[in-house]
Amino acid sequence: KGTLMQGKRGLIMGVANNRSIAWAIAQAVAAQGGEVAFTYQGEALEKRVRPLANSIGADFLLPCDVSDDGAMDAAFDALGEKWGKIDFLVHAIGFADKNFLRGRYIDTPRAVFQQAMDISCYSFAAAGQRAAALMKDGGSLLTLSYLGAERVVPHYNVMGVAKAALEASVRYMAVDLGARQIRVNAISAGPIKTLAASGIGDFSYIMKWNKYNSPLERNIELEEVGGAGLYMLSDLSKGVTGEVHHVDCGYHIVGMKNPAAPDL
Ligand code: NAD
Repeated sequence: KGTLMQGKRGLIMGVANNRSIAWAIAQAVAAQGGEVAFTYQGEALEKRVRPLANSIGADFLLPCDVSDDGAMDAAFDALGEKWGKIDFLVHAIGFADKNFLRGRYIDTPRAVFQQAMDISCYSFAAAGQRAAALMKDGGSLLTLSYLGAERVVPHYNVMGVAKAALEASVRYMAVDLGARQIRVNAISAGPIKTLAASGIGDFSYIMKWNKYNSPLERNIELEEVGGAGLYMLSDLSKGVTGEVHHVDCGYHIVGMKNPAAPDL
């Protein structure tokens, strides 16, 4: 067992099951001696999340729907009461009505847009302001993004717009909190089959496309995002803030590659 996270405590938001990116990061942190508290979205998910948490020696779990300020206050108040101080926060939460994660972005209704922005973007600032209040000796805030923030990916639509706003939030929050040595970063992950991803139209095709066109000629593994998360939360990245770090087998650098690629 490593010691990179020894003496550090933090909150991980966004575990739904053992395929969640948040869970991969939690495992990497725990393997390096970090202590983790979890929030879960609702009763139904608690049954999934509690045994996972227990398997890494964690038993501090709190319900928290991030669209509800009262629930956010309650979760962070409980965290503050129990630990007093935290060192890191992982925000691995995104949501948009899946009926609009297909077809055209231009057809997005106002309420769908507002909900996607609220849960996928604003909640990072909302969690960040509450977490920062508990970070007495600096800290690290981390969120998850996707290439659809920077460029058009079919079906990603309103989530792409929300992720663009999320990446901008990373930069503003990095400046807001920098003087207190609180760092704010994002990992832009390549596509992984998770619960959230299953709502995106033609997701298997996107996976295939990435596999054939990325420099590493494969898709990323959950543990690889876990490792990058560990880097961002630990002192290894002490000089890094405001960054969107791609963990996507290099796909984002490619304009066009490999005319000899096998047929899709
Ligand atoms: P996931 O389904 O395992 O996790 C999404 C989480 O968001 C779930 O735990 C869900 O409970 C939570 N959530 C949704 N609405 C919420 C709300 N109102 N309150 C509280 N929690 C809420 O899927 P994942 O792929 O691990 O997603 C984690 C993050 O990674 C998301 O931000 C996602 O956009 C991002 N991401 C995923 C991929 C991918 O291909 N899977 C790629 C890049 C980025």
